[in-house]
Amino acid sequence: GKRAFIAGVADDNGYGWAIAKSLAAAGAEILVGTWVPALNIFESSLRRGKFDESRVLPDGSLMDITKVYPMDAVYDSPEDVPEDVSFLLHLVLEEGKYYFCCILIFSFFQVKTNKRYAGSSNWTVQELVESVKKDFGSIDILVHSLANGPEVSKPLLETSRNGYLAALSASRGSSISLTYIASERIIPGYGGGMSSAKAALESDTRVMAFEAGRKHKVRVNTISAGPLRSRAAKAIGF
Ligand code: NAD
Repeated sequence: GKRAFIAGVADDNGYGWAIAKSLAAAGAEILVGTWVPALNIFESSLRRGKFDESRVLPDGSLMDITKVYPMDAVYDSPEDVPEDVSFLLHLVLEEGKYYFCCILIFSFFQVKTNKRYAGSSNWTVQELVESVKKDFGSIDILVHSLANGPEVSKPLLETSRNGYLAALSASRGSSISLTYIASERIIPGYGGGMSSAKAALESDTRVMAFEAGRKHKVRVNTISAGPLRSRAAKAIGF
């Protein structure tokens, strides 16, 4: 069977989960990459059987996730992670729950802001690649199903430089990724530079298909998915 790595699964509502299920149903071994701030909740929900109903495959068996890796697609290697900023940055990006948890952590333990946040390690892209290589040798399929537009609910006109760059940084990727029609047409409400991020993703997909195709015989595609009320899309009011 094939081994697939799906980056951007943190619950059972999004495209990443659905793609993982389809690949599992087709016989693939499933590895997932979960954003560090969402890792604990995702893993404990998995363990407690919260996703069991949606793990059911067409043959009645349950999708098995061989391993869940913490990841943050914004950072290539530990040197890229700003010592003090990352923790705060992620507080701002994530929703109330994490904010609240982190305030508790701050106040109870006075944790010095640290680049290895939430007690995980090896979550930058390069470290993740090394971990997967060490654990499994290689993968056959890579799915990029993540996005983050911290200012997605703001029109592009009002988007800050930081918000715009954050959207571009987290929302591009390769192999198989998910794009959105807002890259070519105006979709009101899809702001914060996410339309730009998807246009960049589509352009990068073409160039990467050419380059990685020639160099490594790796196919690179992106799927323009229809609107789905995932956790990410709720922020836009879809
Ligand atoms: P989702 O919330 O299920 O998935 C997005 C995931 O990205 C989340 O699990 C989040 O934790 C993760 N993430 C955010 N920043 C990250 C980072 N820096 N590092 C690692 N992970 C990070 O939402 P979704 O809508 O299923 O999104 C999946 C993909 O589909 C995205 O690329 C999205 O733009 C695309 N898409 C969605 C729709 C839609 O309507 N939902 C339409 C077209 C395309």
